[in-house]
Amino acid sequence: MQRDVSVRRVLRWKGAWAAAAAGIVLVAACSTQSGEFFSGTWWQMPPVVEPGPVGGPPSDAVVLFDGKDMSQWNHAEKWVVKDGYVQSGGNDIQSKQSFGDCQLHVEWASPERVSGSGQGRGNSGVFMMGMYEIQVLDSYQNETYADGAVAAVYKQHPPLVNPSRKPGEWQTYDILWETPRFDAKGTLLKPACVTVLMNGVVVQNHFNPLGPTSWDQKPKYTPQPDKGPIGLQYHGNPVRFRNIWIRPIKELTSKPGRDPHNH
Ligand code: MG
Repeated sequence: MQRDVSVRRVLRWKGAWAAAAAGIVLVAACSTQSGEFFSGTWWQMPPVVEPGPVGGPPSDAVVLFDGKDMSQWNHAEKWVVKDGYVQSGGNDIQSKQSFGDCQLHVEWASPERVSGSGQGRGNSGVFMMGMYEIQVLDSYQNETYADGAVAAVYKQHPPLVNPSRKPGEWQTYDILWETPRFDAKGTLLKPACVTVLMNGVVVQNHFNPLGPTSWDQKPKYTPQPDKGPIGLQYHGNPVRFRNIWIRPIKELTSKPGRDPHNH
């Protein structure tokens, strides 16, 4: 009898331990469950975009030049379309549409036969909002001032490196652009911001322009519209362009709450 009581005590102890162990396992399981971080934000699902061939255009791009005609541009009568490219001539041109924050892809080539030097060699330019020049120049073994070289934010910031291909070869610009922001009174809240990849190499990394670029004026901000056209410069040299497309950049919508897709 005495023995039976002690056996029962041992069994009770074992039961208590088993229950405690089960509880620990349960608590551990729950804490794993509750350990996941939830942002508390319910994001819009990212829209599907077909990336298209290498070099684009992606399915949601506005194509500014597809190699066939200059119908998306103003004052381009002297720019000659030929063999899938357009050659600069006569005057600067601007896109008919205006853009704010955007991603811009441009392919260009300076003349294969080199003539001139410094700023006189394969000079053109890509103008964001019609006012901020990303320099186009044949900078292959061609010295000039650093903030006037290829891929410079003209007279404000040189390219971080010079990834130029040889004269006549096609080169790419991929430009990410954020417009400057102003308040209702026209006070600058946030300067513009530009990142440029040339031939896939970062040459401008989140640079804040000091204002519109100029050859003879100190840059400064004055109130400007939210959007502006893309400009291409004619600087006396026959520079070729092809495959020009642009994507307005728009943030996704979101709202507070647990995202139902996050199980
Ligand atoms: Mg230029």
